[in-house]
This record gives sequence, structure tokens and C-alpha cells, in this order.
Amino acid sequence: MSAPSLEFRAIVQRLLRDLEPEDCESELEYEWALEYHALPLGIDLWSRVFLTPDGHVVWAGWEPLEIKRSRDEADLKRALRWAAERYPAMAAFVPREEELKEAWKQEQEKLVASIPMSHQDLRELFDHLDREGAPQCDHTLLRETIEFLQKRGLDVERIVPWLREFGGYCDCEVIYNLDDKFGKIVGR
Ligand SMILES: [Zn+2]
Repeated sequence: MSAPSLEFRAIVQRLLRDLEPEDCESELEYEWALEYHALPLGIDLWSRVFLTPDGHVVWAGWEPLEIKRSRDEADLKRALRWAAERYPAMAAFVPREEELKEAWKQEQEKLVASIPMSHQDLRELFDHLDREGAPQCDHTLLRETIEFLQKRGLDVERIVPWLREFGGYCDCEVIYNLDDKFGKIVGR
């Protein structure tokens, strides 16, 4: 997006300056807000979300500890909506409905373009992981996932980083974090 306005910067900076530990959901949220110099917005599926005065959205995940930053228009618009719920001073920056629709459309297109395998393979991967009697996930490895990909001769080296980018670090997270975003796209 274009550089945020001076007004945006000033308001986020003021909110950050005024932020008190008791405004935060936890001590950790407050600590991270100071560390990243970013306004805490809340908890996403697997990470805490922050907004910087520069208009960057920051996700801080704890398992494993990982920081992701985005200057993406769609991410920012969603974050602004969230920010306004928690900080009334941010209401002026909430995008209008049609902008949100457009951002959503763009995000969907980007999601579709990012999928590094056929829709059918991805759908069947979800079905496979989600099947009845699937072994308990040990939350460290993509054991079942990798086995599935290898059996089909798919590009593991390319697909695993993509799964991680969306929070799929173990088999159950592939379902929890990716099925939500991609399930509909691939016809689940
Ligand atoms: Zn797991």
C-alpha cells in the first residue's frame, strides 16, 4: 500500500505511547507490543497480531516462535477493521465495504495462485489427514503429510515451506490452519 498518512502514524504512535499493561490481554502481549513497537490487535488462529505505525501487520507466533510481517493491502485492511474495534481512535481508517470486498477478492486470488499442487491433490491431502482413525499428531512433524506427498510424487521441498507459511507445522495444523483458508477453494 502507499505510505500511511501522517495522521495514521501519529494516532498509532499515540495509542502505543498510552498503552498500559492493563489494556493488554496478557503480560506477553504488552511485552511484545513494546518490543515490536506495534499496537496489539488480538489473537489470530496461531499468533498474536500487531499493527505498526508504518502500516505493517505483524504476526508473532509462539509455536515455534516466529515473526511474520506484511505490508499487504488485504492484510492491512483486515487489521484496520480489527484495530477499530479495540481502539475507537482508529475508526477513521477502517476501509469501506466495497474496498473490503475487493481486498477479499484479491486475497482469494493470491491464495489460489500460491497453491503449489493441484486442487485435487490438496483436497485429497485434507481428506487423508482428516480421515477417521488417522494416527494422533505428535505436533512436531508433518509425518503423514510428507508420506502422502511422497507417495504421489509431489514436490515436498516446495510444498512444505508453503504449508508452514500458513501455519501448518504438523499434520493437525495443516487441517486447523490450512483447511480453513484453502478447503473451500479446492472443493472441500
Ligand atoms: Zn499437531
